[in-house]
Amino acid sequence: MTQKRLIRNASVISGGRRIQADVLFDDRILAVGENLPADENTRVTDARGLTLIPGLVDVHVHLREPGREAKETIADGTAAAAHGGFTTVFAMPNVLPFPSTVRTVEPYQRLLEEKGRVRALPYGTITVDEAGATPTDYAALRELGVHWFSDDGVGVDSAAVMRRCLEAAREADVLFACHTEDMNYRQPGASVHDSPVVTSRGWIGIPSACESAQLIRDLKLLKETGGRYHTCHVSAKESVDALREAKAAGQDVTGEVTAHHLLLEDKDVQGPMWKMNPPLRSHEDRMALIEGLESGTLDFIANDHAPHTEEEKNQPMDKAPFGIVSLETAFPLLYTEFVKGGRWSLEQLVHWMSTAPARRFGLEGTGDILPGYRADLVLVDENRPGIIDKTTFLSRGKNTPFDKWPTACTIAETICEGRTVWRDTETEKKGS
Ligand SMILES: [Zn+2]
Repeated sequence: MTQKRLIRNASVISGGRRIQADVLFDDRILAVGENLPADENTRVTDARGLTLIPGLVDVHVHLREPGREAKETIADGTAAAAHGGFTTVFAMPNVLPFPSTVRTVEPYQRLLEEKGRVRALPYGTITVDEAGATPTDYAALRELGVHWFSDDGVGVDSAAVMRRCLEAAREADVLFACHTEDMNYRQPGASVHDSPVVTSRGWIGIPSACESAQLIRDLKLLKETGGRYHTCHVSAKESVDALREAKAAGQDVTGEVTAHHLLLEDKDVQGPMWKMNPPLRSHEDRMALIEGLESGTLDFIANDHAPHTEEEKNQPMDKAPFGIVSLETAFPLLYTEFVKGGRWSLEQLVHWMSTAPARRFGLEGTGDILPGYRADLVLVDENRPGIIDKTTFLSRGKNTPFDKWPTACTIAETICEGRTVWRDTETEKKGS
């Protein structure tokens, strides 16, 4: 039984509005209101000057364990999540063994539960072992509570296979989260957006069609099969256009965008720390992503936390692996650029980083601060600027292009199901 706790006098983001309120909770939220009474068994925190937001949800996280523990572990990746304000993360299935069968998923679920500092939910693969050949038995994994499937890292090459997968997914009523990438468009060693802004520096480009062509194919197939479809890390304006059309036609589709694609462009690329897949694209693409999110064509933010070792990332551009870490940078950087910058309200950012992904992925009682919801809460200090310092990251991955970027807020405490999972003294100690 979690001890009852009352957070008084915080500015609370609840039901899409900012209110001044007290929040009483154990592992669930018991009450939200003014001047809530506390009995002697209740721990009271005066949070005047702080803002209380629902715990963030990231549906696109690479925890690397089992199989690639030099890059990240479940314990360290979920500690990083807590540090960054995330209380639910979805673990991408490119681990070893792949979570493709009941036999591999069951121990994987236990591992995530035992080692996760916050809630970590597994994806199953779309095709067995992400090999692109055989659809996973979605109904069997659904029995275990796995409702989400992805082959993240690779696209499903064959349209015939993808069609069978989509049909089976509709039958089993599960959600796909698709990394769309048509390898006919990707040359060996390609690392950046296919634009003279970056290819003039000798790096090989990845055209936007690499992403959008397969997305457009999938949306066509989905028209025939029906079912639910979510597309990962949208980077190109052509993909935004395709999603807009599919939504207008009434298809059950959603799309996510990462913090780095909202914050950076091809011209910012300086080396392997800026190398990710899909790549940072043009200014026009970035504006299409921002406007796509604001207009509802894109549905929410997910950040593709992709830790690698320093040795791996310190290779030349064509050899270094794709990906950057994001759990400890996404919220403060987006807050700084778009909320402090005056373009979005904090309510909007919370919607895109908590409420909307929780809703799309069917997480009941998650993504808001309302009675009966899980007590997943984050205390944010909007008046205390900070700085991104990769030496304080709890993630094993320090691969970020954002080191030393200033932030306009800091996270003071993260609470998962009523328990404190991170407090700002933890990284201060680690840093000293
Ligand atoms: Zn991906």
